[in-house]
Amino acid sequence: MVTQRTFSIIKPDATRRNLTGKINAKFEENGLRIVAQKRIRMTKEQAEQFYAVHKERPFYGDLVKFMTSGPVVVQVLEGEDAVAANRKIMGATNPANADAGTIRKEFAESIEANSVHGSDSPENAKMEISLFFKDSEIVG
Ligand code: ATP
Ligand code: MG
Repeated sequence: MVTQRTFSIIKPDATRRNLTGKINAKFEENGLRIVAQKRIRMTKEQAEQFYAVHKERPFYGDLVKFMTSGPVVVQVLEGEDAVAANRKIMGATNPANADAGTIRKEFAESIEANSVHGSDSPENAKMEISLFFKDSEIVG
């Protein structure tokens, strides 16, 4: 096991319902440390770039609209096996399939408005972190 970093976003459905603290508690209770965090309003260009892998999918346009519909909290989480650990804490993409106790089971509204993003590999984590944070903003 190695200490690793992953990139996380608390999405607009969650900031709108004032759930930032409850979601952060899930990360911390499960052994992840928030080593960088800021609240931003994503631009259309940022959201399009961030979800570029999905640009051929039918939900892409709506997803970009949703991600720019309100504030988000972008974060770097650090811990043992952080990428996989965070995916487990988040739960399945569709909250209907998410395990009990996961963020998406407890808080997500729908498959789109599913409260959180987490990187799906260490390589993507590095790339996503660099889109939103300078090295000097991450304090481990
Ligand atoms: P994320 O990348 O946000 O952490 P994920 O890796 O679990 O989520 P992806 O397959 O990468 O899921 O999809 C990215 C996001 O696109 C999802 O989190 C969700 O907000 C949205 N999405 C995925 N599938 C659908 C769908 N069938 N309909 C509407 N929105 C969807
Ligand atoms: Mg994904």
